[in-house]
Amino acid sequence: MQINKKTTGLSEQEVLESRSKYGENILTPPKRDSLWKLFFEKFNDPIIKILLVAVALSLVVSIVHNEYAETIGIFVAICLATGIGFWFEASAHKRFNLLNQVSDDVAVKVVRNSNVREVMRKEVVVGDIVVLETGDEIPADGLLLESISLQANESNLTGEPIVRKTTNEADFNTHATYPSNMLLRGTTVVEGHGMMEVSHVGDATEFGKVAQESGISTNVKSPLDLQLEGLAKYVGRIGGALAILAFLVMLTRNVIMPHVAGTPWFSWDQLDHVLQAFMVAVTLIVVAVPEGLPMSVTLSLALNMKRMLKTNNLVRKMHACETMGATTVICTDKTGTLTRNQMRVNESNFFALQNQQIGEVQNDLLIVESIASNSTAHLDTTDLQKPKTIGNPTEAALLLWLHSQKQNYLEFRENAKVIDQLSFSTERKYMATLVESDVLKGKRILYIKGAPEMILSKCSTIQEVSGTSALSEKKADIEKRLLDYQNKAMRTLGFGYKIIDNSETRPIADIIGNDCIFLGFVAISDPVRDDVPAAVSRCLSAGVGIKIVTGDTPATAREIARQIGIWNESDQMQNLITGPDFAALSDEEAFKRVKHLKIMCRARPSDKQRLVQLLQKHGEVVAVTGDGTNDAPALNYANVGLAMGSGTSVAKEASDITLLDDSFNSIATAVMWGRSLYQNIQRFVLFQLTINVSAILLVFLGTLLGRELPITVTQMLWINLIMDTFAAGALASLPPDPSVMKNKPRKNTDFIVTKKMMTNILGLGIGFVVFLLGLLYYFSDSDGNISRYNLSMFFTVFVFLQFWNLFNAKAYPSKQSAFSGMGKSLGFILVLALIIVGQVLIVQFGGEVFRTVPLALNDWLLIFGATSVILWIGEIIRLIKRLLHRN
Ligand code: ATP
Repeated sequence: MQINKKTTGLSEQEVLESRSKYGENILTPPKRDSLWKLFFEKFNDPIIKILLVAVALSLVVSIVHNEYAETIGIFVAICLATGIGFWFEASAHKRFNLLNQVSDDVAVKVVRNSNVREVMRKEVVVGDIVVLETGDEIPADGLLLESISLQANESNLTGEPIVRKTTNEADFNTHATYPSNMLLRGTTVVEGHGMMEVSHVGDATEFGKVAQESGISTNVKSPLDLQLEGLAKYVGRIGGALAILAFLVMLTRNVIMPHVAGTPWFSWDQLDHVLQAFMVAVTLIVVAVPEGLPMSVTLSLALNMKRMLKTNNLVRKMHACETMGATTVICTDKTGTLTRNQMRVNESNFFALQNQQIGEVQNDLLIVESIASNSTAHLDTTDLQKPKTIGNPTEAALLLWLHSQKQNYLEFRENAKVIDQLSFSTERKYMATLVESDVLKGKRILYIKGAPEMILSKCSTIQEVSGTSALSEKKADIEKRLLDYQNKAMRTLGFGYKIIDNSETRPIADIIGNDCIFLGFVAISDPVRDDVPAAVSRCLSAGVGIKIVTGDTPATAREIARQIGIWNESDQMQNLITGPDFAALSDEEAFKRVKHLKIMCRARPSDKQRLVQLLQKHGEVVAVTGDGTNDAPALNYANVGLAMGSGTSVAKEASDITLLDDSFNSIATAVMWGRSLYQNIQRFVLFQLTINVSAILLVFLGTLLGRELPITVTQMLWINLIMDTFAAGALASLPPDPSVMKNKPRKNTDFIVTKKMMTNILGLGIGFVVFLLGLLYYFSDSDGNISRYNLSMFFTVFVFLQFWNLFNAKAYPSKQSAFSGMGKSLGFILVLALIIVGQVLIVQFGGEVFRTVPLALNDWLLIFGATSVILWIGEIIRLIKRLLHRN
């Protein structure tokens, strides 16, 4: 009965019935904070708290003067600031949840309608037969039907990293938390393989009961986040100090000095003066604290994550987008990343068939059985013309080959009873299976296959049509032929076997010995992906080094490296090393070698990890790709771990980004995205800090020199909104800029504000202040009073200076005109429109709340045109740079 179930699985009808009875295999998402809670959290912001105090105080003044405009204005501004902040956050949350759903879609191998195929994890139902392999995450709770050396990592449920799982009751561990034949959702297979029948899905699983699934964490702070928070604090402190200074100066001038001159301590007028001094201080603080800085990073990252998904990069840890831009070395896998991962057997050399027609394998069932049983891959033959491969691609290529020879691998696999198996691993580089052979009528046969040098070392004789002969005479010839294939970039695989006595009880590793019979070898081709050479050259010209880390042979790896353009005629053997040779080097020698290394072949995961660590010691920012369970440490150590979409769950869990299409091209794109992101944030910082410097100085000096606040609290709140939220939206949403790939990588430790930016900020900021103070002077009458009309003009001039300067920020640091690529910058145009409309509404209709009076059309046009000089100066400078560059 059980055997039957294992091979047939559920029918489509049964799947539907089970799903309607037991539900889908999804976990109810954790209850999210209510929108109200999110909204009220905004009031925890210290700036908002200060503003609330200001509202209360201004209310007192309002009651005294019976004049409520300013109070209402500040109140509206607070609502606006909290409301917009809240809106941004809520939409970012929504985005993260969407991304989480994508990462939730893991493919699971199930048997249905007598066929092995892949379905999404959420489609698994109670009663499904799931096929499990090393590295798989278990999709639901279930009972084992079959297990071969199966071990599970249950650490996220029970804390146990290695638990033996078996169907053999005699071996059951009675002390284990869960029965030895039970597998649990959320745990992973760390060794062996097997099949289970699903008993519980979704919330009914143990995992569903105890925990909610971990997804993308939105509150992990990136290094850049921390940098900007530091910067914001620093600027905030300067603003705070100036605010206190301004408060004291005004208090001395308007309260203490008059008191010395005879005014009583308390009068309504005195109170009014104190409150006004307080308002100025509040304004200064509000302007000074660039609270938008950290938010701009979050916003840019969230936007980037969404866009990167379109280029096949599923970002799991937010900071990875940004670190990708600082990457200096990429250590890449070969299969799938550089090549198409469409492995096909190109040549087969089975010596038993030498004198017969190669290709008619049916004559030698031993070979068919050897391939079919000594494998964990599957073919989904729903479409017999185009079978889909499932599992290890090398093994799948062999199954496809059998399929092309009209051999049904499943039949052979079912008929040869597996007694023990040593699954393939990159460390071992071979695989072995002990079976009760159907071909040899119940005799026990040990089949081995793997890297040819491994297999050859375990064989002493060679199978020929007429029998066996000594291997030693033929070895040199075989090795030469292998090298020929490897020089053509092909992967080679050797096969051997040995008949084992039925009474043998030792574990499989002990019985292999070195007296197996060599059956032959195959050469598997896997062409380089078409887009890879171009992507490689993009990375190289961007100053990003590329190292191939592969399990394949030196010859194969070198040929692939040559085809993609990283191996030149002039390269020597010092640019290539094998894993075992690398492991034999001392730390000091290895440290010296890694710098010039281009290829590490026959590499094992531990070599990869050491390579990453040594490169980091050289100060490199390393991105590493990985697909296997054993790659997890290297992925963890890397600055950015890139897991293959086709890789194991363990690898994905350890990674920062999943490459959905496995392709190197997507890595190159991610580097460009990362650099563009950094550039956009720099643009924002440049813009924001220029306003900060000019607004702080203006309010500070303006209040010290004049009588009236040059810019009121409510006006400042509007400016604050432009520079924090709007500008973050406008600049963070700029499309990626391919020209960033012409620069060398930045250092990861570089401060985001470069010297050039600092000069720019201070120069322009101070320039603005000088001009604006001159304007104030021009506007004031002989008593130092400025009319409301002129103050409205002044406010509008300030805003439009920033408006035009936003263009300059957009063009930074390129030599291109600010108008280039405008058509693709919709967010930017929208923000420009918002600023104009907002300013017109505020000035024309703001009245007492904003302390404005309507301006004449002529004045609007005059201000709009005159302030644009800022942009034209920038354009001329950029034009000159372009001309100089051309010359
Ligand atoms: P890549 O960088 O190409 O992804 P890899 O590190 O994944 O390479 P491995 O899969 O470790 O390389 O393969 C190393 C060698 O082991 C291959 O050249 C091949 O000879 C052998 N090999 C690969 N897959 C299997 C398998 N399933 N069974 C037996 N031997 C295998």
